[in-house]
Amino acid sequence: MNNIECDIVIVGTGIAGLSCALGFQDNTKIIIISNNNPGKSGSTRFAQGGIAFSENDGESTKAHIYDTINAGSGMCDKTAVHHFIEQSNKTIKWLEKQGVNFDKREDGTIQKGLEGGHSENRIAHIGGDATGIGIINALFEKISSKDNISFIKGELSALLTDDNNTVCGIEAEGFTIKSSSVIFATGGGCGIFGDRTAPEQPLSAFELALQAGTKATDMEFFQYHPTALDLPLEVTVQIPRLPLITEAIRGAGALLKVGKNLMQINHEMGSLAPRDVVSRAVFENRQQGKRVYLDTSSIQNFSSIFPTIANICKQYDIDYNKIPIRTAVHYQIGGIKTDVNGRTCVDGLYVIGEASSTGLHGANRLASNSLLEASIMGKTCAETIQKSNIRGGIIKRRIISKKDSTQSTVRDINNRSLGIIRNHDTLKDAIITLSTLPQTPNVIASLMSNLFALRRTESVGSHYRSDYLETKRMPRQHMNLDEFKEEIRQVI
Ligand SMILES: Cc1cc2nc3c(=O)[nH]c(=O)nc-3n(C[C@H](O)[C@H](O)[C@H](O)COP(=O)(O)OP(=O)(O)OC[C@H]3O[C@@H](n4cnc5c(N)ncnc54)[C@H](O)[C@@H]3O)c2cc1C
Repeated sequence: MNNIECDIVIVGTGIAGLSCALGFQDNTKIIIISNNNPGKSGSTRFAQGGIAFSENDGESTKAHIYDTINAGSGMCDKTAVHHFIEQSNKTIKWLEKQGVNFDKREDGTIQKGLEGGHSENRIAHIGGDATGIGIINALFEKISSKDNISFIKGELSALLTDDNNTVCGIEAEGFTIKSSSVIFATGGGCGIFGDRTAPEQPLSAFELALQAGTKATDMEFFQYHPTALDLPLEVTVQIPRLPLITEAIRGAGALLKVGKNLMQINHEMGSLAPRDVVSRAVFENRQQGKRVYLDTSSIQNFSSIFPTIANICKQYDIDYNKIPIRTAVHYQIGGIKTDVNGRTCVDGLYVIGEASSTGLHGANRLASNSLLEASIMGKTCAETIQKSNIRGGIIKRRIISKKDSTQSTVRDINNRSLGIIRNHDTLKDAIITLSTLPQTPNVIASLMSNLFALRRTESVGSHYRSDYLETKRMPRQHMNLDEFKEEIRQVI
């Protein structure tokens, strides 16, 4: 084992982890670890649409707040919504200062795109539809110029705590890293599904955070994207995730069609309605055996505005004027319960970005609000730690994560039980089957999601129950590991 000491260890090199590293003062010794090289893992690199922001002229911020709460089906934590949206303009400027180069208009101001659920154009993007990789490259370049930040490749395997259960380090593939605080920026858990646009990520951070005493929250809410590329089964079985067709192309005028007709969507915003509404409409059409397309023929210069999408279509020999689409799991709304600065209920342990759940997204995330949330959390988490006097002490306990080999089993189960339309019987069957498997991180995350979904006896946002169609807005659920085990015992 290599033993290393530093002030701060950050796990994850997506937008949350990199923003956090850059948020500390230059005299803080930081180690960032990730199970792959920066830009080679996590969701950030796949982001196409961009980052939602509202310039602080009052009205546009108010509209952004309204759209966020509206998309979240009224289930958002309003304090969190105000916190993040009111900082959005400042955050875009901070990212520019770190070297992020958003697409500009001729007058030098940032170009603003439109996406589903947004009542006005407010999405900053890079390279048309290559926002994520543009952000990662810029932030990593900035980090490379800093002597106080170093990078180690390795998968997290254990969390270390002192006498008071304050977190004071981690272990990862041959390294023991002692630090005064630990930050998990480990992304979402969509890897428990087969049909998804998001990459698979190890869930050891989720399991370790729970073992250390944190709570999981909102685990029933997974956002389905309405426009993943619909490829033949023989192709999808060979690729790790479905390519995404950004919603921004509907913002630019693309239409959802079933055959030659416009797809009917029961919402005042039509094909630019929030994702849960459009996803259900696409799903229902496909259930009836119909194929759904994006008709992009009205968009002039398509391949120069959306080069990533044009390349994806070329790769699969698809005409970008008529792109076949389907729904796929895209974003985990739930996660480890934190405040807006990533603080958990365990001293010394912080969780930021998609791995956390602050309540910003409610029951359905407004498009392009997650890169915003992750970047703000990263930066303010660093500021919070610098102001705090909680510091982990001498290592006394190792919390170890179980090795995982249950991915394919849990995916088949979750695809059935946690689909766009859910019901009591499939959720309960899933819980009974999952409870017989070894309790690995993937199984625990799946069990929790099915349990939270079973307990939410209503339809709200991304959680739609065919046996409980009414929207009641039951309170947000949260649970620690002991409460969860007791609940599971009662269900099986
Ligand atoms: C296809 C796609 C398009 C999207 N488009 C947009 C968009 O346009 N706008 C928007 O706002 N949001 C978008 N999202 C969502 C957004 O990209 C994510 O929510 C955001 O990037 C998450 O950032 P993060 O830093 O929290 O995690 P990630 O970027 O997922 O990074 C997680 C990091 O943690 C590391 N890691 C995880 N577990 C471990 C472990 N156990 N040990 C070591 N390392 C570990 C990973 O290797 C990775 O480096 C999109 C998502 C997808 C899938």
